[in-house]
Amino acid sequence: MSESSTRPAPRVLGVAIPSPLRRLFDYRPGGETPAGGWRPGLRVRVPFGRRQVVGVVLECRDDSALPLATLKPVDACLDDAPLPADWLWLCRFTARYYQHAPGDTLHQALPALLRQGRALEARTRERWRVTPAAEREPPPGLARAPRQAELLAMLRQHPHGLVTQAVLAQSFSRDQLKALVDKGLVERLEEPRTATPTGQAGPLLAEPALPLHREQAAALAVLHERLDAFHPCLLHGVTGSGKTEVYLQLIEAVVGRGRQALVLVPEIGLTPQTLARFRSRFRVPVVALHSGLTDHERLDAWEAAASGRAPIVIGTRSAIFTPLARPGAIIVDEEHDGSFKQQEGLRYHARDLAVARAHRHGVPLVLGSATPSLETLQRALAGDYRHLRLTQRASRHPPARLELVDLRGRPRRGGLIPPVMEAIASTLAAGHQVLVFINRRGFAPTLACHACGWMAECDHCDARMTLHRQPPLLACHHCDRRRALPDACPDCGSADLRPLGSGTERTEETLAERFPETPVHRIDRDSTRRRDALEQTLTEVRRGAPCLLVGTQMLAKGHHLPHVTLVVVVNADAGLYSSDFRALEHSAQLLEQVAGRAGRAAHPGRVLVQTLHADDSNLRLLAARGYDALAEQLLAERRAAALPPFRHLALLRLESPREEAASELGGRAADALREHLAERRLAVDCLGPVPAPMERRQNRYHLQVMLGADKRSRLHEAGAWLVAWLEAEPAARRVRWSLDIDPQTL
Ligand code: ADP
Ligand code: ZN
Ligand code: ZN
Repeated sequence: MSESSTRPAPRVLGVAIPSPLRRLFDYRPGGETPAGGWRPGLRVRVPFGRRQVVGVVLECRDDSALPLATLKPVDACLDDAPLPADWLWLCRFTARYYQHAPGDTLHQALPALLRQGRALEARTRERWRVTPAAEREPPPGLARAPRQAELLAMLRQHPHGLVTQAVLAQSFSRDQLKALVDKGLVERLEEPRTATPTGQAGPLLAEPALPLHREQAAALAVLHERLDAFHPCLLHGVTGSGKTEVYLQLIEAVVGRGRQALVLVPEIGLTPQTLARFRSRFRVPVVALHSGLTDHERLDAWEAAASGRAPIVIGTRSAIFTPLARPGAIIVDEEHDGSFKQQEGLRYHARDLAVARAHRHGVPLVLGSATPSLETLQRALAGDYRHLRLTQRASRHPPARLELVDLRGRPRRGGLIPPVMEAIASTLAAGHQVLVFINRRGFAPTLACHACGWMAECDHCDARMTLHRQPPLLACHHCDRRRALPDACPDCGSADLRPLGSGTERTEETLAERFPETPVHRIDRDSTRRRDALEQTLTEVRRGAPCLLVGTQMLAKGHHLPHVTLVVVVNADAGLYSSDFRALEHSAQLLEQVAGRAGRAAHPGRVLVQTLHADDSNLRLLAARGYDALAEQLLAERRAAALPPFRHLALLRLESPREEAASELGGRAADALREHLAERRLAVDCLGPVPAPMERRQNRYHLQVMLGADKRSRLHEAGAWLVAWLEAEPAARRVRWSLDIDPQTL
């Protein structure tokens, strides 16, 4: 007998309710008692203010801080069984780790229909299958029904049966199906929509796995060593080295043991091609979770994962919150990708939650990347993660090296200098394709001299100053020092001072003018709002006729462009230099990913990187020895400067239409925290408030207070105290604030 049914009913239910408040709300049990008794994880409908809301019971207790008589009863319990326990655990962990309201965390982690109170059930569909009676020749009772005879003949060719849609598509009718059912020749089955058409018996693979090359086989062997334990691995392999093939074969082993695999991919990575690759390998259902699903499809997918019916679940960031009945492995592809971090509301990092989840489940974890984040790389170098390397490309061509092209003092058209324009011309003339990459990352802009490469730096910090336009000035976001815009370059006297990256707006037009015969395809978020528009362009490009591809980040990843043999990076500097200490890491990852597009098939590639800093030591290291060498250098710098991953950070972000309101609250919060830290002798630093990199956005002022600690537990202690202070502070209700644990951008 289960524990809960023997336990007396609780007198108080602690319910998580969609609200920004970091607490539960107490209710009395009410309505019908659920079959298994009151338990955490049951959804309830409760009165909240003047509304009715759906909440989730998280605690069953006998006491409350409020007099029991004042508690309202819940209206109704919505579930027979609690929501999946692994999901509940993850939500609680997430709320605690990110200091986020439990109700809002659960709310964001639930599919919309479950938030609205729908039952956790899969929609079903009908399948029509011949019965043994239909095997007789000629089948009885069809002499005067030729269409029914034809329908029966069709169904006999499909021993697993056909779904209604497939039957109607052949111009048969529902009445004809019913008639066959009435004659006992056909049976009607009902199955979840996510069910596999062939049933799950039979071989797992729909196509044979590729014979692995040596490094892949070695990596897979390590993964096979421990399929029943937490086994974190960094699969560190150059672009095109066959990481996906390793994932596929790990999944084969996991699913073969009756377990489920969860695969997270970046937003840009979940293309029809990627899905097709998984779906064509396995005969079992591969459920995809992404932003393009309808609410119903999302619920179906969630149910298929929670029930264990879907052995393979693949999705973007929020798919980390998919419950799994029998977790067997978690894979995060392109683990360094910025889209895994949610930048508003619940600011979680799906990769970090994947680590926590794999640990909790005791299953292998694979973090795959050609350019691992410094956080993950450090853990691999320290031996916390197994470091599996793939150094060879499956195509045998080594990845192209970056060639730095010095921009200083050279004339530019549409951001491109003459020798680069000539390289483009000769590549097109040779019948190949060219990718022109424009860096548009939202890094804080800084002012640069385009004659000598000088950039505005703070005299007091080892940091670049950020260009502000309203009012025009330079500000340091580390110490808040401000400075007027210089009229001329302090180093060389030139008046050619411009923000980095300016002038690239016209790149596409200039190319179209210069190469009127060649198609120019633009690929960025605006030109590819529709998923299939991008696919159409890429299909066209893969046919191989010479063309120019002009694009932003969207082009950097995943897409296989075998006919591109020249990559041009128009403006490397925009991302390389910014006040954010992670800028160089992110830019180097991007450059390496872009370079990985070149020369994947028959021809080796060239990558030309235009820069004002062709003699910058970091850039030269990246060009000469690649991302791994630069990453080691950056890790050494981070260690020396006490920055992540050697130190843990949290950022209190404050914003208000009134500058004084935000800075007054930020100042008092920081002072209160500093006092608390001193009193408790907590080894946590508190810096600020300082203006955020884009201080004024949409007429709102943004400020931040930074917390730093060597010990994560200390940081969380300080963060929890700060959040409690703000929640109790009346002035904090008039300023929008949030705490960002492990911020990715400063
Ligand atoms: P990555 O994920 O590391 O970028 P992929 O898994 O996409 O690399 O592999 C790149 C290409 O090499 C793909 O076309 C893939 O089919 C092919 N490939 C991968 N592994 C092998 C192998 N063992 N034998 C032959 N081709 C392979
Ligand atoms: Zn200068
Ligand atoms: Zn400074």
